[in-house]
Amino acid sequence: MDEIVNVAKRRAFIYAGSEIYGGLANAWDYGPYGVLLKNNVKQAWWKDMVMKRSDIVGLDSSILMNPKVWEASGHIKEFTDPLVDCKECKQRFRADQLEADKCPSCGGELTEARQFNLMFKTHAGPVDNEENIVYLRPETAQGIFVDFKNILDTTRVKLPFGVAQIGKSFRNEITPGNFTFRTREFEQFEIEYFVKDALSAKKAFDEWVKVRFEWYKNLGIDPNNLRLREHEKNELAHYAIAATDVEYNFPFGFSELEGIANRGDYDLSQHEKFSGVEMRYFDDETKQKVLPHVVEPSGGVDRAVLAFLVDAYTVERAWGEERTVLKFHPRLAPIKVAIFPLVKKEPLILRAKEIFHGLKEKWFVEYDETGTVGRRYRRQDEIGTPYCITVDFDSLEDNAVTVRDRDTMKQERVPISSLPEFLEKKIGV
Ligand SMILES: [Zn+2]
Repeated sequence: MDEIVNVAKRRAFIYAGSEIYGGLANAWDYGPYGVLLKNNVKQAWWKDMVMKRSDIVGLDSSILMNPKVWEASGHIKEFTDPLVDCKECKQRFRADQLEADKCPSCGGELTEARQFNLMFKTHAGPVDNEENIVYLRPETAQGIFVDFKNILDTTRVKLPFGVAQIGKSFRNEITPGNFTFRTREFEQFEIEYFVKDALSAKKAFDEWVKVRFEWYKNLGIDPNNLRLREHEKNELAHYAIAATDVEYNFPFGFSELEGIANRGDYDLSQHEKFSGVEMRYFDDETKQKVLPHVVEPSGGVDRAVLAFLVDAYTVERAWGEERTVLKFHPRLAPIKVAIFPLVKKEPLILRAKEIFHGLKEKWFVEYDETGTVGRRYRRQDEIGTPYCITVDFDSLEDNAVTVRDRDTMKQERVPISSLPEFLEKKIGV
């Protein structure tokens, strides 16, 4: 893990947040390559889960919501961890994670456990009183349930259909950690998939488990590092009928990447009860109103980014030298192509820059003329660039360039005029 944290910082993927002030515990910033990687992960999800399907629509709901939402969802009552304080050193621990009834730090006596709500609380407006308490949402899902009726009334969706959303959520975790795996501010990609009844929900649940497992695999994660884990009855959330996690083999062991849950009709029925607004769907075929059931594939964007980073990280020997390479799927690679003049001389520079400006219209590409070509390759390997293009003196004669493949390190000669097609086939859009 230390190696991953190290390369992530050195190569502008992930920095410690507020670092010049000594940081803020478990807050991380995505650097210039990190934000490209993260955007690519989100775009791949959006494209595969929303654009390419005809049964899913998108949504972007607000982080601050009416506090009644969290009453209805059960978060105000149920979204808690049991905490104990050490009477000696004043440290605070999660009661369910302690092995003994003494303080693990100093051996001191502990207080009785009390429930601590994980939602971040703040006030809307200039007055800090009980009436204007608002919470930073702990999940994006509730925004979808609350807009369910609006979506029914204003679009042509028909059951079964899903609503997809990407956005930030906040949880005041007591014990965050493992780099970006568990943080108090994080991003989710979630789908609420509505179906007409319990039986359909069971079927949809099995399908979504498969779809989401395959998604990670298709984006290059080694299937040996992925597994499915069904939740035991006693670990199911208060609303869930069934849940299965897609887990990834992180350096600290197999841990949750994404959870797929069958939430039954819990959420819509709760909101119907608390808001007094009917949340039913009129079935044209049976001429009956139904309260849909819902299946939720809910993933952590930051966890996905970390898994793709860990899985891509490779140290190997090539021609007697060690090289570090991030073998990202081309769809996820931050920079798709790097363009070099063989030496820092005209007219090679001019030709290389022409190619650079042409490709830049379509992809994130880099131009680099500093140091030996070997060193420039190493640098691009470390940020996971799938292809490097070198303009040499022959290029001026034959109008072709050398394209070097990141993983095989094989080089081939490609006419400049067919570069866009060549790259499109390899990288996609
Ligand atoms: Zn203590």
